[in-house]
Amino acid sequence: MDLYEYQAKDLFAAHGVPVLPGAVATTPDEAAAIAADYGVAVVVKAQVKTGGRGKAGGVKLAETAEETKTKAEGILGLDIKGHIVHRVLVTPASDIAEEYYFSFLLDRSNRTFLAMASVEGGMDIEEVAVSKPEALAKIAIDPIAGVDLAKANEIVAAAKFPAEVADQVADTIVKLWETFVSEDATLVEVNPLVRDPHGKIVALDGKVTLDENAGFRHPAHAELVDKAAENPLEAAAKAKDLNYVKLDGEVGIIGNGAGLVMSTLDVVAYAGEKHGGVKPANFLDIGGGASAEVMANGLEIILSDTDVRSVFVNVFGGITACDAVANGIVKALEILGDGATKPLVVRLDGNNVVEGRRILAEANHPLVTVVDTMDNAADRAAELAAAGK
Ligand code: GDP
Ligand code: MN
Repeated sequence: MDLYEYQAKDLFAAHGVPVLPGAVATTPDEAAAIAADYGVAVVVKAQVKTGGRGKAGGVKLAETAEETKTKAEGILGLDIKGHIVHRVLVTPASDIAEEYYFSFLLDRSNRTFLAMASVEGGMDIEEVAVSKPEALAKIAIDPIAGVDLAKANEIVAAAKFPAEVADQVADTIVKLWETFVSEDATLVEVNPLVRDPHGKIVALDGKVTLDENAGFRHPAHAELVDKAAENPLEAAAKAKDLNYVKLDGEVGIIGNGAGLVMSTLDVVAYAGEKHGGVKPANFLDIGGGASAEVMANGLEIILSDTDVRSVFVNVFGGITACDAVANGIVKALEILGDGATKPLVVRLDGNNVVEGRRILAEANHPLVTVVDTMDNAADRAAELAAAGK
């Protein structure tokens, strides 16, 4: 889960990382009132979960409360790379002597954590990485040893931070590592980390991605979810503990096991090319021990997606054998009753497949077609979706 800047900086503050105060406004008048409270020049900053707000006109300086109102009017409602601005952060303006870059992230390709630091911050770090790679220090972090002051000093030296800020930056790096670890983040980024004219180091911007798999350890993180921006189907699935991701196609997908579901998406996308370009409508993994209730919950979510024209249930019976899955499908359709309105193509294979198919044949539900192979089932599901368009 990506956080807004103001949320990221709240976490920074909680871990002792130096940030400026700030308050969030949803209207120009609110923004003006915050600026009037501070009584100094402020920066009005669009709160959207994408970078490059500055370049897109989403970060503006305002000298007075009146000017803050005008600037907030211009920023609220702005479309920044497809993200509409509903909130602005109003924060006392800082004078900037230098802008640096710092981040901790999960380096998947090297299976480790990585610190990246540069004294050429502020601008696109991707650009620095390409045009001047030597200006971006990359230091692998041992996850067990972590980042103590000695490691932080090593990073500071590698990135060639100026001597007069070295101690402050090292201290900030240790606190950012504490934030990264104790919040279970996969990214903590500060761009720019600034030195003000008095020599003080401040995190002027903040970007944090939290690992949702660790959500159970952080009840407080639930409050960081932007409910208004959540996809309603994904929210409903989450409430039912389902692994569901909404996609933009027409064929609903249910499978057991993430690998099987991913390959199902591929075969459906491929089959869809022959049927007017229909595509998978979602990812849904009902997991290994799928009960009738889980199957019903999954079907309910998928059938309530108005984009869905047909559903492909692709199950490989393992620990939960095909007969149990078939009973699950039959019971799920009973539970859903008139709620089930779209054709279902079912492909069962694996443990107890003969009995599973027998159960489905006996139930003889008008919406259900059983197809033997994954490719043929994908083709049939795509065909039905195309016909229902
Ligand atoms: P981003 O463009 O989404 O990364 O937003 P940032 O928060 O990083 O702001 C973009 C740029 O605006 C920064 O690199 C600074 O140059 C400038 N900026 C942001 N806050 C201040 C401030 O308080 N004072 C001054 N002078 N410039 C600021
Ligand atoms: Mn930035």
